[in-house]
Amino acid sequence: MIKEIREPLVFEISAAGKRAGELPALDVPVRKDLLAGVPLRREIEDFPEVSETEVTRHFTRLSQKNYCVDMGIYPLGSCTMKYNPKVNERLSAHPAFAGSHPLLPEELVQGNLEVLRTLERFLREITGLDAFTLQPAAGAHGELAGMMIIRAALEARGDARKIVLIPDSAHGTNPSSAHICGYAVKEIKSGEDGTIDVAALEAAMTGEVAALMVTNPNTLGVFESDIGLIAGIVHAKGGFVYMDGANMNALTGVARPGDMGVDVLHLNLHKTFSTPHGGGGPGSGPVGVKKELEPYLPVPVIAEKGGRYVLDFDRPRSIGRVRAFFGNFSVLVRALCYIMSLGPEGVREIAELAVLNANYIRKSLEGDYHLKYATPSMHECVFSDKLQKEHGITNLDIAKRLIDHGVHPPTMSFPLIVPGALMIEPTETESRRDLDLFIGAMKAIAKEAKENPDVLRAAPHVTYVGRLDEVGAAKNPVLRWEKKP
Ligand SMILES: *Cc1c(COP(=O)(O)O)cnc(C)c1O
Repeated sequence: MIKEIREPLVFEISAAGKRAGELPALDVPVRKDLLAGVPLRREIEDFPEVSETEVTRHFTRLSQKNYCVDMGIYPLGSCTMKYNPKVNERLSAHPAFAGSHPLLPEELVQGNLEVLRTLERFLREITGLDAFTLQPAAGAHGELAGMMIIRAALEARGDARKIVLIPDSAHGTNPSSAHICGYAVKEIKSGEDGTIDVAALEAAMTGEVAALMVTNPNTLGVFESDIGLIAGIVHAKGGFVYMDGANMNALTGVARPGDMGVDVLHLNLHKTFSTPHGGGGPGSGPVGVKKELEPYLPVPVIAEKGGRYVLDFDRPRSIGRVRAFFGNFSVLVRALCYIMSLGPEGVREIAELAVLNANYIRKSLEGDYHLKYATPSMHECVFSDKLQKEHGITNLDIAKRLIDHGVHPPTMSFPLIVPGALMIEPTETESRRDLDLFIGAMKAIAKEAKENPDVLRAAPHVTYVGRLDEVGAAKNPVLRWEKKP
């Protein structure tokens, strides 16, 4: 047990006058006039003063209390916490990329623009859509840009419409994006098998509906096998089909949303295409559209003129800019490196392994944990705590106990249509051995729920802190360090 080794705040180890490094005395005259008129802060109040050793050890100790995908399986559902090859980090950090200033004129960054155009081409090929913008900075940002494109296209027809249909299993960002774009959201109930109830969709699909936002495979990890039929119903009434492609690793190289009747889609490069996800770092949510919607893409669009790449701002029907410069360029470079290093077979293997791994877990845990939907899984599977509830054990207890087994817990209590949900997405990068370790831990916990539930309820036992007062943390957050007098 390693409890009670509390890491102090960096402010608490501060002592006046300590420095991590010192510059030699200035041997040229001081020029105060250079920054005249610039509002400069003289000092930062209570700025911590520590030595290099102290600051290094402080942050290293903190990092060791954390869990990361470089340590082990991180099976958060609807998140794709997969291992990303380090070589892509190296390449995107190459000084030729990382050092090129975003304000450089386009004739000096032809190589960068080629990177973006090539990535667009690969994303078109993978998704079956006709044109892409790489600007949106995340999934939700892509959703908003996509919905704005749909709104602009409908307005051009003379009727922006009022409603967006969204299945009850959808990720929370879908209704919020539609809402921010000015639409009323109408929920479509899922059927017995967890997919969209086609009859319910047909009844809801009127001339007032701008779009259906669909996630495929949906957040239960189930493929919407009626997607062609569903798209036909939406199109027949003049609506658009928006697909949330955040978890594209179920489909890459196997099936293309554009071939299923999808008109607009966003991808999460920070899930599927080699940018680490979850560290709070930059993301990228490119949006792909069918030909008909291309004029509405954000500006600038990268075009080719006379053998050069140019930034085209002359697009009267564009929804405008959604992000400064080119989006999160380093994320885009990683995605291109990833796709090119895998090649077509490798891209296909992403999906094959993601689906195989999820189904391996599903089959292995079938008797131990309850499955609300019997439909086969794609890249993730959703269990519930129904069997453990009989012993007074909830999904929270199971998640906390997994930490004692050295495993990051899965997503809990989502999607909302599965009470007590444990949503597991192993991703394609886990080996058979790591999957078996996870399955072994889950089985041990199922057994413990029957035989020794008290131990489970008190978990985790091996962490620096046990169960946190989550309500207290939300209601009375301590956001400011107060210096002790
Ligand atoms: C992650 C995710 C999103 C949101 O992506 P962000 O980059 O976090 O904004 C949307 N939909 C689904 C299905 C997701 O898994």
